[in-house]
Amino acid sequence: FDVPDDPIIPIIHGDGIGVDIGPAAQKVLGAAAEATGREINWMRLYAGESARERYDENLPEDTLEAFREFNVGIKGPLTTPVGAGYRSLNVALRKRLDLYANVRPTYHIDGVPSPVKDPDAMDMVNFRENTEDVYAGIEWEQGTEEVEQVREFVEEEMGYDNTIHEGEVGIGIKPITEFGTKRLVRRAIDYALENDRDSVTLIHKGNIMKFTEAQFRDWGFEVANEEYGDEVITEDTLWEQRDGDVPEDTVVVNDRIADAMLQWLLLRPEEYDVLAMPNLNGDYLSDSAGAQIGGLGIAPGANLGDGRVLAEPVHGSAPKHAGNDEANPTAMILSGRLMFDQMGWDDASQKIYDAVEGAISSKKVTYDIHRQIDGGEKLATSEFADEIVDNI
Ligand code: NAD
Repeated sequence: FDVPDDPIIPIIHGDGIGVDIGPAAQKVLGAAAEATGREINWMRLYAGESARERYDENLPEDTLEAFREFNVGIKGPLTTPVGAGYRSLNVALRKRLDLYANVRPTYHIDGVPSPVKDPDAMDMVNFRENTEDVYAGIEWEQGTEEVEQVREFVEEEMGYDNTIHEGEVGIGIKPITEFGTKRLVRRAIDYALENDRDSVTLIHKGNIMKFTEAQFRDWGFEVANEEYGDEVITEDTLWEQRDGDVPEDTVVVNDRIADAMLQWLLLRPEEYDVLAMPNLNGDYLSDSAGAQIGGLGIAPGANLGDGRVLAEPVHGSAPKHAGNDEANPTAMILSGRLMFDQMGWDDASQKIYDAVEGAISSKKVTYDIHRQIDGGEKLATSEFADEIVDNI
């Protein structure tokens, strides 16, 4: 990105705990910018509940237009209202801005409890496809004409082992395209090359879903084999041609079945590096990975399109904690780091990391981490943000 030192950055604080963590994250990101000689001009935008109050709609065109115009932005969580015409506001936002890759790093911060044996050895980056799969939202209720047509088709065309049970049935479609898969896998491989990573693992259920998830794997391997020359090697080629010996500065592309991967995530996370996967696998896997670094209050994320970044934490609006000044703003703050990384503000990003680690390792933490550790000081969201700003 070509970003000036005083950029306009759009921000949505978000619904539920967004009212607590949004201002906290804004304060910390602003302080890190200032400490590195810059000044952010925040542009408050609205979506979800806050937009309904102001504009009587969930996803105002102005909000989308601002993200399109400035290409860089950050958002808190949004609650999708029941019966609002959207399956999910977040999915709609990602699709309408064509933010096709959801990047979710899993790294351990000193002082955060983890169920993993050696959490410091864990340093993974998940690339979740963001626009396709069962999240495309193509599904039909029981009793509709489409469902009956599919039922008839299955029974007539597909034989005895594919009959659908009698009675009501809902049907959904899982589109996975060559275009969508390849641009996601390219993004993951590019990231691995730029950041000196050793491997990219394609996570799929191709053993069961041959024409969707297995295609994801095959198209992914096609990218690895055909587009990167000597810089990238697939695991099969590695064994066929080099007896498993990895040449220096080469990224190895391999694959794992999604259910087994959830096991390896707990047992041997240190063996994995960059992961690339379809939408649903990515949703499950990244929440699970979040639990390994202290829970959803910590886990950061960013949606990437071509020349566009919209940072957002992995977690949702956690309504039970909303407005209590108690939620953990770390996930949104660290999401802001991902935005800074894309902007080339590496020094500001590092300041944030050091300041967050400083607070957590001295056991000054919000309730979610406090209840997982012995002793320490339980801080409110706003106090925790002030502590980080002081550290910066
Ligand atoms: P959630 O992520 O909001 O919360 C689950 C639990 O995780 C919370 O009860 C809380 O215990 C914990 N938690 C989450 N964030 C935390 C934080 N910052 N600090 C401390 N604890 C935290 O998931 P949910 O309850 O299943 O969903 C609530 C709403 O959020 C739903 O409407 C859902 O659609 C929406 N949602 C939005 C997004 C998004 O905006 N990207 C993502 C997921 C869910």
